[in-house]
Amino acid sequence: MNNNHGDTAGITTPHVALLLDARGIPISLRNIRTGCEYIEVRGLDFWQMIYPHEDDPETPIRSRDQAQAEIATAADSLTVRYPFLVDAFGRRLDVEFIYRVEARDDTLLLTAEIRNADAPAGTAPPINELWSPMLSGLRSLGRSPQETFLLYPESAGRRVADPVHALSNRGQPVRGARLNWLREFYPGKASMQWMGLYGSGGSLYVGSHDTSLQTTAVNAMLVSGAAAQNDSLSLGFIKYPFCRPGETWRSEPFVIVVHTGTWHADARRYRAFADTWQDRRRAKPRWVEDMAAMHDIVMLHQHGRMRFRYDEIGTICDAAKSAGIDVVKLTGWAHGGHDNQVPDFLPSERLGGEHKLVENIKAARDSGARIVLYFHFVQMSPNSSFYAKHGEFCQIKGPRGNPFIDVFTWPSNGSIIAMNERMQLINACVATEPWKEQVLDCVRRGVAYGADCVFLDQTAGGPSSFLCFDERHGHRSPAYSCGPGKTELSRLAREIVKSAGSETALGAEYIADAILQYYDFTIPFGSGFFYEGQHFGEMYRYTFPEDVLLTQYISREDYEQLAYSFVMGYRFFLAPLQQCELITALRPEFVQRLANLIRLRRTYAGVLLRGRFMETLPLQVGNPAIVARAYQSTGEAAVAVWNTSARPQPLDVAWPGRILASVETPGGMADPSSDLPPGEVAVMVLRLL
Ligand SMILES: [Zn+2]
Repeated sequence: MNNNHGDTAGITTPHVALLLDARGIPISLRNIRTGCEYIEVRGLDFWQMIYPHEDDPETPIRSRDQAQAEIATAADSLTVRYPFLVDAFGRRLDVEFIYRVEARDDTLLLTAEIRNADAPAGTAPPINELWSPMLSGLRSLGRSPQETFLLYPESAGRRVADPVHALSNRGQPVRGARLNWLREFYPGKASMQWMGLYGSGGSLYVGSHDTSLQTTAVNAMLVSGAAAQNDSLSLGFIKYPFCRPGETWRSEPFVIVVHTGTWHADARRYRAFADTWQDRRRAKPRWVEDMAAMHDIVMLHQHGRMRFRYDEIGTICDAAKSAGIDVVKLTGWAHGGHDNQVPDFLPSERLGGEHKLVENIKAARDSGARIVLYFHFVQMSPNSSFYAKHGEFCQIKGPRGNPFIDVFTWPSNGSIIAMNERMQLINACVATEPWKEQVLDCVRRGVAYGADCVFLDQTAGGPSSFLCFDERHGHRSPAYSCGPGKTELSRLAREIVKSAGSETALGAEYIADAILQYYDFTIPFGSGFFYEGQHFGEMYRYTFPEDVLLTQYISREDYEQLAYSFVMGYRFFLAPLQQCELITALRPEFVQRLANLIRLRRTYAGVLLRGRFMETLPLQVGNPAIVARAYQSTGEAAVAVWNTSARPQPLDVAWPGRILASVETPGGMADPSSDLPPGEVAVMVLRLL
């Protein structure tokens, strides 16, 4: 149904009603089921573009500055057309902009189109950015902002309670300006292209259902009012059309859903979209599925300090075994040491040479260990021989032609090197041919050295270098360097690894859904890996439960990180004392605790490691001191629980339709009617009634 009277136009379904003003800006978005009005502050922008003007390389064109739009309504859809645009300074631009909204049940599908006229220079500039939608004026979705929360896909997930207040108080001002937004890039530090806002008056899903892998910013920002009570949120995405005069650019669908379900419904909604173009049915090696933990170690440091030779790989594996760990990741095994002379990755003569590397990897595997060999996916050291040949060409370039340079200096024992010889790592455009060939050559060599797994660093996230402006690289536009480049190179790397056998693995760092479909596991960083503050790894974990995620580095004796990782199903990633020491450098009681947790995980591997993570969905948890997460596999169900308090706590956790069969802690079988000791975890095994 639609209406179009006077200077407003709208579209209504039994679930949602949208009303636009004469400029095509929503003045009302109502959840019909709850009666809740979502737009509490009116008159804010619904879209904006950015173009380069000689006065300002990032000049805005804003929806609120436009004259009346042409709005056409039809059954269940409306089309808003601006025959020309006016920038923020009142200058007319010969750019036509159209957006169209289709309503289906609780869903609004929005698509945008920029038609840049073939006009004299200056009147039809290139459009570099499109911010769409900017669903603005949101505050509480119900009774009060304090009861509202935002889910944002930063790494494994961020849950921002009272987001209007939280974003207005975000961190330290940068010379007077507060960065009061969340704006990560997909596929990258934004692991998915959706977010959600949840209040007492319903739920709001905002998704970019875009399969092109073009760089997309997931944008949740505070719009500051003159006073705090006028602050509101704007949710949406930023695309990078780089639409030049004479060109037309069309978006993929943006999806807005107004509903009354929980965030789980939105996770399943996004997952259903992901399943139309990503494939998570690829088999993982059995040892990866069952991997409870991994031990990392740097063998040769960046500045040349030697820690372990190749003939000491067995010593490293023995130390890992003392904690029950059989997977060992060798970092800094190559001639330049860790984070130096990359991406050459040649065996180090100082550590024993190629023959010793191969011989000792084989010996370690023969004794039951699994060896993961580290390589890089993104970065180049200026002192590498690859850089001497291809570095300038392969650099990812900014709009002014400058390379993206990351500085990563590892701590050494003294103070001069860290102060005076900071190590540069220059990011490569992964869509360039020499870079692809080099990475694939590394993958082939990793397999040839006999490793069980080739690990590719900074695959899915890493430093914020996304757009590449080097036109020699041949990607369709700057926005098609990172997403398509990383995904395609990952696919090719997987082919090589799997041609060596189904039990050979490919490992990644960081999280991004489209990239991770090609990997057997990932070692993540960032939001979602700790039990505190805004961490909410449940968001990614529930959306993509098949992905094998390790913990963020466990560098020291962190019992809470172990417990939270245990209930969340994150495999323990031990990198003792900043990757510099063996697990045996930590105290025996911590090593024993780790070994007991690994034993417990292995006992229930069929459901805890190979089963499906169900979050809290089927559970009734009556005791808030108990963190409980449900797992299910064919014929089996279990709940991993953790007493977060300092007192014994009753296991008041029920799974309707199932009955508790047994409880086991790291120390052994427990009486199900007894309280769980402070800080302790357990596995509750359930049977069907
Ligand atoms: Zn490039």
